[in-house]
Amino acid sequence: MPYVYDFSAGSRDMKDLLGGKGANLAEMTNLGLPVPPGFTITTEACNAYLQTGDVPVELASEVDQHLKALESQMDKRLGDAEDPLLVSVRSGAKFSMPGMMDTVLNIGLNDDSVQGLAKQSGSERFAWDSYRRLIQMFGKTVLGVEGEPFEEAITAAKKAKGTRDDLDLDTADLQELVAAFQAVVEQHTGAAFPQDPRDQMDLATRAVFDSWNGERARLYRRQERISADLGTAVNVCSMVFGNLGMDSGTGVAFTRDPGSGAQGVYGDYLQNAQGEDVVAGIRNTLPLQDLEALNKGAYDELMATMATLERHYRDLCDIEFTIERGKLWMLQTRVGKRTAGAAFRIATQLVDEGLIDLDEALRRVTGAQLVRLMFPAFGATDDVDVSRVVLGRGMGASPGAAVGKAVFSSASAVAWAARGEDVVLVRRETTPDDLSGMIAAQGILTSRGGKTSHAAVVARGMGKTCVCGAEDLEVDLEALTLTAPDGTVVAEGDMLSIDGTSGVVYLGEVAVRPSPVVEYFEGTLAEADEDDLTRAVHRLIDHADAGRRLGVRANADNPEDAARARRFGAAGIGLCRTEHMFLGDRRQLVEDLVLADTDDERTSALAALLELQREDFTGILRAMDGLPVTVRLLDPPLHEFLPDLTELSVELAVAEATGAAVDPKRHSLLEAVRRLHEQNPMIGLRGVRLGLVIPGLFAMQVRAIAEATKTLTDEGLQPLPEVMVPLVGAVQELEIVREEAERVLAEVGVRALVGTMIEIPRAALTAGQIAGAADFFSFGTNDLTQMGWGFSRDDVEAAFFSRYLDLGVFGVSPFESIDRDGVGRLVRIAVEEGRAAKPGLKTGVCGEHGGDPDSVHFFHEVGLDYVSCSPFRVPVARLEAGRAALDASTSDTR
Ligand code: PEP
Ligand code: MG
Repeated sequence: MPYVYDFSAGSRDMKDLLGGKGANLAEMTNLGLPVPPGFTITTEACNAYLQTGDVPVELASEVDQHLKALESQMDKRLGDAEDPLLVSVRSGAKFSMPGMMDTVLNIGLNDDSVQGLAKQSGSERFAWDSYRRLIQMFGKTVLGVEGEPFEEAITAAKKAKGTRDDLDLDTADLQELVAAFQAVVEQHTGAAFPQDPRDQMDLATRAVFDSWNGERARLYRRQERISADLGTAVNVCSMVFGNLGMDSGTGVAFTRDPGSGAQGVYGDYLQNAQGEDVVAGIRNTLPLQDLEALNKGAYDELMATMATLERHYRDLCDIEFTIERGKLWMLQTRVGKRTAGAAFRIATQLVDEGLIDLDEALRRVTGAQLVRLMFPAFGATDDVDVSRVVLGRGMGASPGAAVGKAVFSSASAVAWAARGEDVVLVRRETTPDDLSGMIAAQGILTSRGGKTSHAAVVARGMGKTCVCGAEDLEVDLEALTLTAPDGTVVAEGDMLSIDGTSGVVYLGEVAVRPSPVVEYFEGTLAEADEDDLTRAVHRLIDHADAGRRLGVRANADNPEDAARARRFGAAGIGLCRTEHMFLGDRRQLVEDLVLADTDDERTSALAALLELQREDFTGILRAMDGLPVTVRLLDPPLHEFLPDLTELSVELAVAEATGAAVDPKRHSLLEAVRRLHEQNPMIGLRGVRLGLVIPGLFAMQVRAIAEATKTLTDEGLQPLPEVMVPLVGAVQELEIVREEAERVLAEVGVRALVGTMIEIPRAALTAGQIAGAADFFSFGTNDLTQMGWGFSRDDVEAAFFSRYLDLGVFGVSPFESIDRDGVGRLVRIAVEEGRAAKPGLKTGVCGEHGGDPDSVHFFHEVGLDYVSCSPFRVPVARLEAGRAALDASTSDTR
């Protein structure tokens, strides 16, 4: 397979190979849109380079060939002294990583071709300014020279000239600056700035490859769960210039508002500017509408191009464009990032516009987006309480409500957040270096830059609240203050509240209100308050419900959670853990049980527990009337209910030393705690093992379930209990418990399914045998992951997972998203062998993975009957189960 593709040879479907940018440049080229010609070096070349430390041997000749073709198409030669072809060398991975990797513009300029550029452009100043930009950018990104010496040289030049504005530097000043920059390069690298244009291009290509593993890129990937082994493509694109005068410029735009989904013209334009100036938010931009007055022809062509793109991609697109002396050039497009709310709105708008059907609309939204919509927000502005002090207003760039202490640097954001403080990061504008601070903060506030500035784009991608371009707020990064127009000063550590929807910035802590989407699910949203967002969510969830095969249950262990789960659409309880029912005052009863010396003592402790458990189960079964409720028999090691070994030892030692009186039972308790103490409790006496070792414990729980069922049935209700045995590894364990359970159920005269969790690898591997004694399997993927990987679930995530993520051992924690190849394989084997032994065996999952979007797709694929997750995740699981039932392809809006 080739390592290099001409723009005309690719397509939007080739993102794996060409990266998102390359694939979409190819698509636009083939649509006949005005794209400057160029070619893309594939991600495979990058991966080969990153693995071996050198580019593949074939690459040089392939690049030669494509460069030659480009030169003949452009009728110019790279770096020619008379009429140079100049190129940009841009990164572009499969998933957009804004500003996280490197790009070098103006490749091909050297001491000779700068003259040619001056002649051809008719502007010496422009040519020398372009050259000094190249040396600076190339010096920093390719040669690793610090940015400061360049900045110092510019400052010195401006000082000598008596100005503070770059634009006052004339050709002679810029020529001197070029010489100064070249000296900086030579001093810092020990070699002259490379004059050979092809060397420049090759070095820049390698630098882009290397930037895949730069610190920023790695951090971003971890945050966005982008796999570390994808690599980046490199786009070599002939340069067009937005900085050739006031009839030139550069801009970015969306075909719809990425914040709300509303249709219209959304974008920023910067006259006489190049490249990243707009995205960096360094200079204030014009609204895109103003371009119409400046250059009607280019504006009309841009609008037509945007309409073509929307129709072609059948989705919101974002674009980057440049106008060179009145002529429009498209530099990039992609299916645009959008807020979660906009994703739902746009998907249904496009259905109404006839561009897509409801299936496609469902593919275009994700469970992760729905999660974001379920966060609380500030109250609506018409119920603003008068005590709110509005400091100022910016653009609502990424919705949500953020409340926290003001901090003015990323380092402080990280440090304060590590101490457990909620912070709002306040900057003039952000750069990719602020990523760690943005991750640490609750929200981000900037005083400059538009909806497409770095802060806005990155925050939206992270789903983090952001207000940008609050220009009436003065940010002083030295004094660490924010000053409002009325003179109010906010110092570091003062409370701020920012509203990422309206863009309003408040002093102090503003109360938040629950998300309307949650109120909609709760059924408490007044019809009058339903808006296009809740309507869009309703429509898409409805459609998901109609198409999904997977059932969705909830993990709930009290009547309130059970009732909520039901309102959120759960079709039952897949896991009712019983351990919390033994805490608080009830610990005493567990102590009595453990300390019982005689049958009588044990029986009376169990009788007291039975009483309480019956009430527990009655409440839950009542809340879930008519729906199945899977109750898991006690699982954790008993010592979790007893006093801590060290504390009890100290208590008794102190009592002894001071001669205080001690209840002799405390000594027996200490002995019991010592006896039950384990080195590895998670693989010790817990789960079914407790049932086999502690006489009467499981029988008591089953009796409580049975009696609760009987009471409710007598009331005319329809309780549907299921008894679930945890931590089974051998069919014999289950058989013993099952026999006892069936005896108790028969005594009380009720029926219930008796099934088992599959959460030990041996259980999965002997599922055929275990199915013989089980009415159902429920996969406990938390323990299955723990024991499948040999990872202590309480320890490893904090201890070393970040290192494992960095090393690419996995792209996401296997406790968060199912490890398909390993743990997932155990699930698959158990489903297949369980069903082979017992056709129609009911199967579900109740580990945390049951509410994880990617894992839901996996459980659909292996044919489980249901997933069970926390009540708040139920709508997410419903949505994802519906998406999983559509064909496998997913949308590319990440
Ligand atoms: C599991 O192991 O996946 C499970 C649901 O049980 P717990 O988390 O309570 O061990
Ligand atoms: Mg478990």
